[in-house]
Amino acid sequence: MPLKVDYDAIVVGAGFAGLALMHYLKEVGISVQVFDKATDIGGTWTWNRYPGAATDSEGYYYCLTFSKEILQEWSWSRRYPGWEETLKYLHFVADKCDMWPDIQLNTEIVSADFQNDTGLWLIKTGDGKQYTCKYFISAMGMISEPVIPKIKGLKKFKGPSFHSSRWPQEGLDYADKRVGIIGCGATTVQMLPAMAQTAKNVTVFQRTPNFVLPAMQSQMTPEWEKEIKDNYDEIIAKCRNHSFGMAFDSPVGRNAVDTPAEERQKIFEEHWKGSFRWVFETFDDLLVDPAANKMAADFIISKMKEVVKDPEVADILTPKGYPLFAKRPPLEHDPGFYESFNRDNVKLVDIKDREPIVEITENGVRTTLDHYEFDIIVLATGFQAYTGALEAFDIRGVSGTTIRDKWEVESKSIMGVCIADYPNLFTITGPQAPFANLPTSIQQNALWISDCIKKMESEGYDLCHPLPEAEDEWSAHVAEIHRQTLMDVGDKVHSWMMGANIENKNARVLVYFGGAGVYYDKLRESVNQGFPELSFS
Ligand code: NAP
Repeated sequence: MPLKVDYDAIVVGAGFAGLALMHYLKEVGISVQVFDKATDIGGTWTWNRYPGAATDSEGYYYCLTFSKEILQEWSWSRRYPGWEETLKYLHFVADKCDMWPDIQLNTEIVSADFQNDTGLWLIKTGDGKQYTCKYFISAMGMISEPVIPKIKGLKKFKGPSFHSSRWPQEGLDYADKRVGIIGCGATTVQMLPAMAQTAKNVTVFQRTPNFVLPAMQSQMTPEWEKEIKDNYDEIIAKCRNHSFGMAFDSPVGRNAVDTPAEERQKIFEEHWKGSFRWVFETFDDLLVDPAANKMAADFIISKMKEVVKDPEVADILTPKGYPLFAKRPPLEHDPGFYESFNRDNVKLVDIKDREPIVEITENGVRTTLDHYEFDIIVLATGFQAYTGALEAFDIRGVSGTTIRDKWEVESKSIMGVCIADYPNLFTITGPQAPFANLPTSIQQNALWISDCIKKMESEGYDLCHPLPEAEDEWSAHVAEIHRQTLMDVGDKVHSWMMGANIENKNARVLVYFGGAGVYYDKLRESVNQGFPELSFS
């Protein structure tokens, strides 16, 4: 007698990845249940409700492309939509595709155990319920598990204090308040200028300065929208083939190091029009040749120094000793991040070289030189990228080992989509996948997963076991490519791209830098060859 399963597939997470999976798995014809601990769908875009939160990819390709109808029907209001608009868009997708009946919100998964006797996954939720499923799929997001810094006295502070990705869902009135922000990555680059408009004052505690590129927001016009909608096939193909999953026109066929200085400067200037395009549509060697990388880095720094009036502040904001892209560069939106430091109500504190934080007190932050009083403290201290969500609760495979324990020293996977020892478990954008425009990667991953499940269902397989030798091979390949890049900086700059932002954990290879387009080809090749990385039974 066949075993009773509650659902064929349980998906955890109802953001871009969860919705994409629902679409592709429904096409396979299996039953799918999505759980999410949040109060709404949206993932990143429901958690990160901080002021100024917006996409850093241009909205018209930071979206799901499986439905031509939705692409034509939905209209973006501007180049980079804010969190509210992105969330509205995801609701539109869920409505159009009738996804709501299969989504259960406010439900946290607390454990997932593979049952060796039945070959099913047993999933337990925070409300004391349990469910069985054949396939367990993580759509939890690669940047979702917050890093809470280990700062003395963190709990002593009397006012509101929270991680940026846990911004109070009902909103927070910060007008005329004194705000302290600890951390200065992409989140703060968006949040600071927005908050400084109405807060009494905002103080940013910065450890490592970043290379900040301009976003240059603009409103969508009817002409631009028509051009986009008339050319969506081409836009989707560009993303599919690009090294970072973006609809960019690159490679451009020229190198910075081979271009005369005057001409190079002219090209840098002409392309200073917002978005990561600047990195990819100027020269092809900026991320591979240290000399070219330095030219780009110097240009960005010179632009920053044109804006920031106080030379001492500009010096604190100047990245030193690491190449552009060894940390993910933030984009500054409007009003600008650098411009904010010209305001009387914004202060930058260098906690690396000048005055490290000593403790958090009842009413502020004490550094080695001063005590700063606040009404609100925001911890914009980043995420345990790629691995954090999968390590946050116990997921036990055939051997009973948790993913957390398996990844203690190295975080190996097969193409970021499955993990040896965890049969019938799939991950969207797991470790050792590329870092790319996320909706592009998410859909390519969801396609691979649904194709694998389609094979199992149509050929009558109960189990697929990711092969340990395939995992070793992929990890070695990813590490080999990583060694050849400028991003291989170990734990020098606490980059989340190497897990080097997690205290007491060694830096490791988490990103496949062989090019997203190449990686998507590899996923297709795997499907076409019948999934040689897996054994089926
Ligand atoms: P982040 O870039 O990792 O920045 C975290 C900041 O907190 C860094 O300045 C870090 O300093 C600091 N920090 C961490 N622990 C600290 C401690 N114990 N004491 C003092 N400072 C500490 O995090 P994020 O800004 O949240 O961004 C993470 C990623 O999320 C981005 O790179 C991006 O991929 C994504 N994101 C995307 C968007 C978008 O596309 N719209 C917006 C926001 C974020 P160190 O650098 O010295 O470690």
